[in-house]
Amino acid sequence: MNGSRFSIDVLTPVERRPRRLRLRWVRSASGLASVFAELVRRALDVVLAAAALLLLSPALVLRAALAWRETGRILERKVRIGRFREPFRRLSFAGTAPGRSLPMFLNVLRGDLSLAGPRPLTEAEAAAIPPDGFERFGVRPGLVSAHTLRARTGISYEGEVATDRDHYYGQTLRGDLGLVARFVPVRLLGGRSGTPAPPVLDFFGVSIVNGTMDEAVDWILERARERPAKPALLAFVNPDCLNVAWGDADYRRALQEASRVLPDGIGIHLGCRVLGTALRANVNGTDLFPRLCERLAGTNDSIYLLGARPGVAAEAASAMQKRFPGLAVAGTRDGYFAPDEEEAVIEAIHASGASVLLVAFGAPKQELWLAANRERLRVPVAVGVGGLFDFYSGRVARAPHWLRELGLEWSWRLLQEPRRMWRRYLIGNWVFLYRVWKQSRVPQTSGAAS
Ligand code: UDP
Repeated sequence: MNGSRFSIDVLTPVERRPRRLRLRWVRSASGLASVFAELVRRALDVVLAAAALLLLSPALVLRAALAWRETGRILERKVRIGRFREPFRRLSFAGTAPGRSLPMFLNVLRGDLSLAGPRPLTEAEAAAIPPDGFERFGVRPGLVSAHTLRARTGISYEGEVATDRDHYYGQTLRGDLGLVARFVPVRLLGGRSGTPAPPVLDFFGVSIVNGTMDEAVDWILERARERPAKPALLAFVNPDCLNVAWGDADYRRALQEASRVLPDGIGIHLGCRVLGTALRANVNGTDLFPRLCERLAGTNDSIYLLGARPGVAAEAASAMQKRFPGLAVAGTRDGYFAPDEEEAVIEAIHASGASVLLVAFGAPKQELWLAANRERLRVPVAVGVGGLFDFYSGRVARAPHWLRELGLEWSWRLLQEPRRMWRRYLIGNWVFLYRVWKQSRVPQTSGAAS
């Protein structure tokens, strides 16, 4: 990606062995290609930034006037560290009104910033990165980074450094343009950053822990270690679950009595916006599963997968064992057993010695089953996980990453199963937001049907 790699390739003496020679040739060619890509990237940055400034010129004039009226200044300049650790002055509008960052397009024209790239660091942040540390300073920082986009839809689970490193080590111009194109609607719909994120959210009397993915995995592993007398129960809820809980007292009670409930999907994020709060992360079961398996692989704790069609849980288990060698799977079982087999199912789970039980019957069936059998189940922690074995067995394709970055995974599921899902998404989501809006007007009451 950077120029130094190109010059090293050209100056290095040519190897004698033909295979190495060919390899070197390819690397030189890719060096040339990357110089060309760099020029195209710069040209596109300039053209798009100029177009944005032109298109937004009325808004810029208005915002400049607001800044002047509020503070007596138009622009603020803050020192940031750019490519090759060169400091530059990052421009923003003074004052608190929205649109503070619009002047950064001028930084793009000046070459301080690219449209896409890792966030420009403060001097202190840059000083904390060792000189031979990773190649953050080999690329131009950007207005939009993979982390800033994903953080807005709550899916930057690995944190800023890892997310951005993964993105720009494999950075392509097309990838970056996609990033910028996705950021525009997400930024417009995603609300302002800096909104308070309370530790617990309340939707219709169901308390949802507003934490991160890492905290959720830690919590499961801690319960597995503690081995409580009764299983700790974990549930995930999306707007559809909360709509069901609104009218189904048993399910609502199961959620209220669960040890922990976590937020699943962009609908909860939108619900938070209606309440004027922020969701810290979209902590859904599908993204949690591989992270949990990875962490379990380094422990003596094993996992039991119960649910889905015959064979699916076993396929998901072996896919995870391939990905995370050392993961102990205590057992698997499909979710289509007769009531008179239930005793044997529970006994098999107990005999397996599993520390973590994942139950995939879909909501609310799995939560009701876990609540009804809590006294009989002798596992430290049990989690209701919905349809995720179908994804990890490879039988059902999950939405591509770019759709998830846009917060549109639901549209993928809608296209896959329109007959089953249209009511849930096209009507249910609006009903949910209406109910949340009503709740926001009467903050003292739970808002749930009694
Ligand atoms: N399922 C099951 N037993 C049942 C009904 C459903 O094991 O009696 C499984 C089904 O095969 C699927 C999952 O439960 O794997 C439900 O998936 P869905 O996508 O409906 O769940 P959601 O994630 O929407 O809660």
